[in-house]
Amino acid sequence: MKVLVFNCGSSSIKYKLYDMPDGTLIAAGLVQRIGEEASEAKQKAGTKEIRMQKRIGSHAEGMNIMSVMLTDPEKGAIQSMSEIGACGHRVVNGGEKITGSVKIDQQLIHIIEHYSELAPLHNPPNLVGIREAQKMFGDIPQIACFDTAFHTTMPETAYLYALPYWMYEKLRIRRYGFHGTSHRYIARRAAQLLQKEKYGVNLITCHLGNGCSMAAVRNGRSVDTTMGLTPLEGLVMGTRTGDIDPAIIFHLVRKGYKPEELDSLLNKKSGLLGISEISNDVRNLEEKAASGSKRAQLALSIFAYRIKKYIGAYLAVLNGCDGIIFAGGIGENGAPMRARILEGMEFLGIKIDPEKNRAAVGKEAEIQTSDSKIKIMVIPTDEEIAIARDTFEIASGIGK
Ligand code: ADP
Repeated sequence: MKVLVFNCGSSSIKYKLYDMPDGTLIAAGLVQRIGEEASEAKQKAGTKEIRMQKRIGSHAEGMNIMSVMLTDPEKGAIQSMSEIGACGHRVVNGGEKITGSVKIDQQLIHIIEHYSELAPLHNPPNLVGIREAQKMFGDIPQIACFDTAFHTTMPETAYLYALPYWMYEKLRIRRYGFHGTSHRYIARRAAQLLQKEKYGVNLITCHLGNGCSMAAVRNGRSVDTTMGLTPLEGLVMGTRTGDIDPAIIFHLVRKGYKPEELDSLLNKKSGLLGISEISNDVRNLEEKAASGSKRAQLALSIFAYRIKKYIGAYLAVLNGCDGIIFAGGIGENGAPMRARILEGMEFLGIKIDPEKNRAAVGKEAEIQTSDSKIKIMVIPTDEEIAIARDTFEIASGIGK
């Protein structure tokens, strides 16, 4: 069965086409800057590449361009869109009742709409993608995979904020957590690599990309995570603050900041970019730090310090663990950052091997010393293949 995986943003459609169940990637494409003057569409299918630059006014137009690229007689991947047997959609917030991937029906659409209020930047474009795919593909199964699903196993001690309880009951204000598909993928893969049962591992998973989050995984299930009601809480990120004292916001409100300005300040102008005033990209900052930039060094140190602090917290939550796993662009490639994070944790039995760490760039590897009590692993994440597998299992009746 050919499975098409979608990740739709407010101005973009990312897609990957897989042959399942073996998981071969047939094509990967991106339509971006939808609604702007200079939109762009590109696709890679094996060695064949297509690139187009033209105005793409809507997601519906973007989907049509995707179908033209996928079925291009010379550089495409398939002869007809009817070869596709199911679609999988990444959806950011499914709330607390959706504990796994599910086939999309009217009731599920209502749930996604309902949680749009809590995920206004993500759920609405995810829904647009679902609706366009339903129009384009007619009756084939459409499956939704939620970023929140993996974290629905958190206990209330971890997910409740110390706000008046009615705010949870009436407004559903709680920690949801995100990047769940990635944390689940790396936790399952780590269990395989450690030759343990999938529900037989305790792990600290670190997804460090443009957005960053960590999870405490007990017996293969998430019991805590750093992101909260929204993806703003927790770690320092490229342009997001992560944890701050909420009273900073009241202070700034009294100074005349408007809600939209604060939203943009905390989400887009802070984090590595805000501290360094140089870049949100760890690669650039490593270069500048090496050539003496104090501000780049400071930004990297604060980034690493926050992660180290959460490792300490999650070791306490889990009463120790089998492994610490690094994934995402920074986790997979940033050897100096991994070393910075784990520095001085030898007393806890966490010992990184400098040689193995340096060699582990963009590939699966164990990077601890032979006498480290806790394994330290690099596992490139693959959210799309996880979505493709769920989609295939549900569409073919293997899953629920
Ligand atoms: P996304 O969260 O959008 O999927 P990625 O997981 O691809 O993003 O991570 C992107 C980030 O990874 C970049 O901002 C950059 O800071 C970081 N990154 C990529 N390559 C390296 C590298 N070699 N060293 C350190 N950081 C890197």
